[in-house]
Amino acid sequence: MVPTKKSTQIEGMGVSPGIALGRAFVMQREVVALTGIHLTSAAEVAAEIARFDDAVSQSVAEVEALIAELTDRGADDGLDILETQIEFLSDPQLRDDVVRKVEEELKTAHDALIEVTDALVRLFLGMEDEYMRGRHADVRDAGDRILRNLGARVQQPRTYPEGCIIIADDLSPSDTMTLDLTLVAGFATQTGGRTSHAAIVAKARGIPAVVGCGAALGGIGDDEWLILDGQAGQLLVQPDNDTIGIYREKQQDFVKQLAWLKSLRDAPAVTKDGHAVALLANISEPADLDQVFENGGEGVGLLRTELLFMGRDSPPDEEEQFEFYRKIALKAGKRPVTIRTIDIGGDKEAPYLGLPKEENPFLGYRAIRICLDRTDVFKTQLRAILRASTFGNLKIMFPMIGSVQEVRAAKAVMREVGKEMEQQGVPFNSQIQTGIMIEIPAAAIIADLLAKEVDFFSIGTNDLIQYTLAVDRMNDQVAPLYDGFHPAVLRLIARVIEEANRNGIHVGMCGELAADPLATRLLLGMGLREFSMSAVSIPWIKQQVRETMLSEAECIFEAVKGLDSADEIRRFCKPIN
Ligand code: PEP
Ligand code: MG
Repeated sequence: MVPTKKSTQIEGMGVSPGIALGRAFVMQREVVALTGIHLTSAAEVAAEIARFDDAVSQSVAEVEALIAELTDRGADDGLDILETQIEFLSDPQLRDDVVRKVEEELKTAHDALIEVTDALVRLFLGMEDEYMRGRHADVRDAGDRILRNLGARVQQPRTYPEGCIIIADDLSPSDTMTLDLTLVAGFATQTGGRTSHAAIVAKARGIPAVVGCGAALGGIGDDEWLILDGQAGQLLVQPDNDTIGIYREKQQDFVKQLAWLKSLRDAPAVTKDGHAVALLANISEPADLDQVFENGGEGVGLLRTELLFMGRDSPPDEEEQFEFYRKIALKAGKRPVTIRTIDIGGDKEAPYLGLPKEENPFLGYRAIRICLDRTDVFKTQLRAILRASTFGNLKIMFPMIGSVQEVRAAKAVMREVGKEMEQQGVPFNSQIQTGIMIEIPAAAIIADLLAKEVDFFSIGTNDLIQYTLAVDRMNDQVAPLYDGFHPAVLRLIARVIEEANRNGIHVGMCGELAADPLATRLLLGMGLREFSMSAVSIPWIKQQVRETMLSEAECIFEAVKGLDSADEIRRFCKPIN
């Protein structure tokens, strides 16, 4: 590999982990032009409609054959994508629209179909919901297939050079389903999000992939050397030899790690001396649950609901929220799911709430402070969660609690919502557990008082560290000061765990410290038995748990109490390899 052009780096969204090294294969969708031909007789109109119907039947037969072939091969991941395509192909509305253009505007089936599918693609692309937006690819794919069967040349080349990395605007459902994995090392697309086909299939088939790379991908030519990092969401174009060496090593590590992950997935998270630990995941949307289960997560310790409220012009209504929470509850089944009410504010913006610009947003109007003020928004969310509570094992958690009064106020709003629902005969779990995030030092200090008010605590170290140490978690300049091993932070954490245990309530940790293998034994020694983190971190922490003797962990905690610096504590905590 001897690259000549200058190396560049393109950022996208990593949707399927793994490292791919290879040459680019640029896939371009051949755009079929309108012919502009007009029909001249009723006989031609009838013949054109018959031709369209034949092309649709042929298209359906092709997709059915593809489904049968993939099923025979046992490659049935994502078959629902092809089933969706059959629905699009046979959609009576599509036929009606095409036939109308043929009959009334005397267009050929070819031209009518292009106009109808273009309009539909625009319609889907304009939708607010990310999943629905992603469905434009189904329409395009179905349209292309019919066009092909009408005699148009829209076939994409299918002979990929071995080991290539596919570069595309987006990949159609059929492309992603029929990619020859023995040839394709990875793919990167300009458009697409986490729920695009490219992302879904890449994850299901274990192909490293980065989506949503934007126009920068347009600069990549066939055969350019690339490194694709599906975890970091990066594409390195024409990397130098040193970088290639580093990534070859990373690739080997990843392969080893995958094998090891598999072996650990179903192993229990139990210490060497038999103490069970709950390893849960932090998620933002229903699709994240797949990764949770793949990594052996026992449930959801933190569902961040902000994502549902961001990047839009108005808040999601009760129905949309209910569907969202219900989907997660159903997918999780009996596994616990802790839903955190919105934590908007700080760095998370929602313009429609008309939040003022603040000098210190992290110390300002955010999370529960907004909710207790904007009870319209809060009540809608609580009602949606409560309605969904009959579909699974849901819990409710309030963020940014700083006083007993805030907990009581939040619970009072919840009781009010529950009472209204009872009066209206709307079913919900009236025994739903309620907890709070402990992420403000004040809350940690009065943990004994707060423990009397709730069923559980979840320690949010991301904020707890920044507030305890007065270090903005977003500010790179002070990043070295942001340290979860600072003795002050550890004392607060130990205090929270101790008070929770003394008062007989549940305590977990959902901040990033829970995902740090260096901290696992120390936290176990403090008495923590529930850790929640991003799904991919679960196996790492599970390994630490399984290698730990609780008595040793308790000794580590005792010894650390006497140390006065984060570095010293870190040295003492060394993880087990
Ligand atoms: C935390 O503060 O630790 C936490 C989990 O919440 P977030 O990162 O969403 O603020
Ligand atoms: Mg927080």
